[in-house]
Amino acid sequence: MRGKRVLVAGAGGFIGGWLVGELLRRGASVRAVDIKPREEWFQVHDGADNLRMDLREIDACRAACAGVDQVFNLAADMGGMGFIEHHKAECMLSVLINTHLLMAAREKDVARYFYSSSACVYNAAKQASPGVTALREEDAYPAMPEDGYGWEKLFSERMCRHFTEDFGLETRVARYHNVYGPHGTYDGGREKAPAAICRKVAEAKLSGRREIEIWGDGEQTRSFMYIDDCLKGTLDIMACDVEVPMNLGSAELVTINRLVDLIEEIAGVRLHRRYDLSAPQGVRGRNSDNGLIRQRLGWEPSIPLATGLERTYAWIYDRIAAGRSAKPAAVAIPA
Ligand code: NAD
Repeated sequence: MRGKRVLVAGAGGFIGGWLVGELLRRGASVRAVDIKPREEWFQVHDGADNLRMDLREIDACRAACAGVDQVFNLAADMGGMGFIEHHKAECMLSVLINTHLLMAAREKDVARYFYSSSACVYNAAKQASPGVTALREEDAYPAMPEDGYGWEKLFSERMCRHFTEDFGLETRVARYHNVYGPHGTYDGGREKAPAAICRKVAEAKLSGRREIEIWGDGEQTRSFMYIDDCLKGTLDIMACDVEVPMNLGSAELVTINRLVDLIEEIAGVRLHRRYDLSAPQGVRGRNSDNGLIRQRLGWEPSIPLATGLERTYAWIYDRIAAGRSAKPAAVAIPA
C-alpha cells in the first residue's frame, strides 16, 4: 500500500477505524470519512485526513473520491439484530452511499473499489437449523436474504458486479460474518451479540447482580471473526484477482450459550440465564464455508474465539468500570 492514496468510507465506525490504522501502518495516504462528528468516531488517527461528510450525497462522494487510487466502502447505517429488525428502511437507504460512491469512483478513475457485504445476503431457508451446513458463496441465490439490510447488501454487491462488467471499474466484495473486537459498539441499540454479552457480563460483575438476559433460547448458532482476521482478509481480498463476492468469516461455530460460557469464564463469574424468547434473534444457524478463500488466498480467519473475546471483554469492562458514556469517545492512536 506504500504511496497509495486511499479513501476509507465509514472511518468513524468499528471496522473503518481499525482499517485506517492498518493502512497508515502499511504506508498508504488515507482520507478517512464519516457522517458522525469526530468526537463520536471510535478511533481518530492523526496521520489521516479526517473529514465529516454525508456519503449519501453524490457531491460528497465526488469530493471524497477525488485523487484517490482505492476506495474501501465500510459506510452503512447498520447494527445488530436489535437494530436491523426494526430499521429496515434506514438500512436500505445505505444503497445511496454505495451507489453514489460507485458513480463517483468511476468518474474519478479510481483503480479499485471494495464493498463490505454481509452474511445477511444468504438465503434464509438455508439457515433454519442450528446444525447448519456452512454457507457457500452460491447459497445467496435464489435470493431470500435478511429483509431490509440483507436486500440492500445483495443489491449493492450486484451493482459492484455490473460496474465491473459494464464500466470496467475493478470491484472486490467481502461477505463479512459477525466481526467483533475492541473499539466497536457495545451499547445504545446497535451492538451485536459478542459486544452485548461482554457488556452484560461486565455490568453483572460490577453490580453484583448475578443474572443475564439472553435473546432467544441460546441454542441459535453463529461464527464470530476477530477484527485482526477481518483486516487481513479485507486487504488480501482487495489485492487479489477474485472478482466474485467472497466469504470472510470464522468457521468456528458456537451456540450463543457457548458464547456466554466463554465470556463468563474470562470474567470469572457464573450468571443465572433469563431467556427472552420474544427478542430479535435472526436466523437459527449460520456458519461460513471457507473453501473459496482457502483455495484462492491460501488463508482463512483463524484467531480462536476465546482469544478475541478476552481482548474484547477487557476493553468493554474497562470502559464500563471507568463510567464511560454509551457514545464512544474519540481516541487518538498514533499512526
Ligand atoms: P459501524 O456502524 O461501526 O460503522 C459504519 C460507519 O458508517 C459508522 O461510523 C457510520 O457513522 C458511517 N456512516 C453511516 N452513514 C454514513 C453516511 N451517510 N456517510 C458517511 N458515513 C456514514 O459498522 P461496522 O461494524 O464497522 O461495519 C462496517 C461495514 O461492514 C458495514 O458496511 C457493515 O454493513 C459491514 N458488516 C459488518 C459486520 C460486523 O459484524 N461488524 C458484519 C457484516 C457486514
